[in-house]
Amino acid sequence: MSSQQDAPETSPHILVLGMGGTIAGLASSPDQNPMQYEAGQLEVASLLAHIQSAIPGNVKLVSKQVANINSRNLTESLLTLLGDAVREALANTSVKGVVVTHGTDTIEETGIFLQLTCGKYAQNLGKRVILTGAMLPANAPKADGPSNLLDAIRWASTPIDNCPGGIYAVMDGRACLAMDLAKRHGSALNAPIQASPSSSAGLINPSWLSGVKAVQALWTEDLPIPKEGEWPWVEILTSHAGARSETITHWLNSKVKGLVIAGSGMGGFHDAWKDSLVAAVKHGIALVRTTRTGAGETLPDLPEKDISGCLASGSLTAPRARIALQLSVYAEKQNQTAGKSLTWQDFFARIAVLPVIR
Ligand code: ASP
Repeated sequence: MSSQQDAPETSPHILVLGMGGTIAGLASSPDQNPMQYEAGQLEVASLLAHIQSAIPGNVKLVSKQVANINSRNLTESLLTLLGDAVREALANTSVKGVVVTHGTDTIEETGIFLQLTCGKYAQNLGKRVILTGAMLPANAPKADGPSNLLDAIRWASTPIDNCPGGIYAVMDGRACLAMDLAKRHGSALNAPIQASPSSSAGLINPSWLSGVKAVQALWTEDLPIPKEGEWPWVEILTSHAGARSETITHWLNSKVKGLVIAGSGMGGFHDAWKDSLVAAVKHGIALVRTTRTGAGETLPDLPEKDISGCLASGSLTAPRARIALQLSVYAEKQNQTAGKSLTWQDFFARIAVLPVIR
């Protein structure tokens, strides 16, 4: 039923891409302490073999190991590899849907990355890409990976009325757009689900679907995937009590191309940073402001007028804003090479308006 992708498979199938994570993790003493484990130990093919008997007979699976890491170690090169693999799978007429198994620590970054680089393509082709992961390692007595993976495969392979192609995620029996998935608890089984009223295969809530369509209407064109080694360097800096101007001036003589400020409250930052942030923008560093609170939108000129050139992140969290800024800075460079004049602000503004669907 499932095969590792050696020779290209030409019959209709679901491609399962493995990135590693706890879903592929093993605990040394699963009965005593399942939370003491190593992520990224099992190949994705063996995760599929484990659930084989529950997979409908008409669903053919092909697996491909893209990486097998603890996702806290996710790199930009791996994002490039994954994005290219997803686009290649979408272009392949034999591939009917794609599942990605991933660690939950940085699934938030991968979710927004795939939305911004492959979302329109998946929608236009009517194919679903489903991200999933797990909070317990594969050999834990109550491992959640098998049911999450089954849900993802069912959702990727089942025609669902009205549910368009796109980049989704499923965890703990609930579905959301992948760009809305985030780990918001260190250990709870439902930790990565930020928002979703819907369930995975077949029970998609109509009001949630209309939210998906609203997001897709706003997302008109995918951004280019940076080539390996060409990702712009962007850092996240958190404003806090006792912040010092040196935290900003430190970057002025570096190769940093962008800064995301995880500000307090509505995305404000310590007054000690003001002058050096103005200097950073003059220096050509792209600047985005978000909130460190973990919820709520960051809006332009609130609570006070923005530094000229600085953009507010809308509903993007700091990790998402960082990926969005990297893709925007890269897109600006590509755009200029092609003799056009769109700036990173033009690209970022299109992303910052995308709402979170609850
Ligand atoms: N540290 C793990 C990872 O992100 C956590 C997980 O997958 O749940 O790979």
